[in-house]
Amino acid sequence: MEIIVCVKQVPDTTEVKIDPATNTLVRQGVPSIVNPFDKNAVEAALQLKEKHGGKVTVISMGPPQAKEALKECLAMGADTAILISDRAFGGADTLATSYTLAAAVKKLGVFDVIICGKQAIDGDTAQVGPEMAEHLGIAQVTYVAQIDIDGDVVRVEREHEEGYEVIEVQLPVLLSVVKSINEPRFPNVKGTMKANRMEIPIWTAGDLAVDEQKIGLKGSPTQVRKIFTPSQRTQGVIIKRDTAREAVAELIQKLSDAKIV
Ligand code: FAD
Repeated sequence: MEIIVCVKQVPDTTEVKIDPATNTLVRQGVPSIVNPFDKNAVEAALQLKEKHGGKVTVISMGPPQAKEALKECLAMGADTAILISDRAFGGADTLATSYTLAAAVKKLGVFDVIICGKQAIDGDTAQVGPEMAEHLGIAQVTYVAQIDIDGDVVRVEREHEEGYEVIEVQLPVLLSVVKSINEPRFPNVKGTMKANRMEIPIWTAGDLAVDEQKIGLKGSPTQVRKIFTPSQRTQGVIIKRDTAREAVAELIQKLSDAKIV
């Protein structure tokens, strides 16, 4: 079974800083990690390989330092990793990102399953996986919490707020996985040493059969008008009175004073 996992390197912080001039993320000086949901994706792929045999390939589109994220996935047990990196890919929105990743998948050739994380913790759109499936013309299931493969049939449990939906699809398929699917393994010393010795090829725009009008900023129809960190909410007022009637009367008075009612 040929399994491809899409992995994004993201800033290790919940306080992502925004460059007000360019409306893009400030990545300098911020430590990076593997997007946590993508570790679940790698773990799911490794478990499928352990059950069915085959090969796990991890791919990432990003700057040269994204190699570190790929190395961590190799240390977990992935067989190969490819970095898709070129200045021409810079400024990509989700459509251009998914188009480029789909082109890399096409270059890899044969595959059975592509696994993505549910979403990236920085961009947070959850669009890249489904868009890739569209570019590749294959089936997709999002929010996957369990995967069972029998022959050409993939049976998945899809997480809902109120339970699970059981879906059967044919291979090849793209699945985006949620946190509850598994507990990602920690890389051991042997895996880390092996990963450090492995070469990670870099594929540039010239290596992929891409239309240059569809990559990077040029290929990105999304225009970010404004991006900002919401201001912290101030603490509310607590009204404590002996009876509910008195408390409600005071609440109404305060709302009236503030011209809300
Ligand atoms: P999601 O869709 O939430 O990710 C879902 C899953 O897709 C991930 O779990 C992972 O499995 C996979 N995935 C997502 N991204 C990648 C990736 N790169 N490689 C491999 N797998 C991946 N970002 C920049 O860093 N620099 C920029 O200059 C920049 N410019 C932008 C300009 C515009 C107009 C817009 C709209 C966005 C820009 N972004 C930029 C953000 C960039 O579009 C997103 O980071 C990227 O497209 C992924 O979207 P997401 O983070 O919402 O991922």
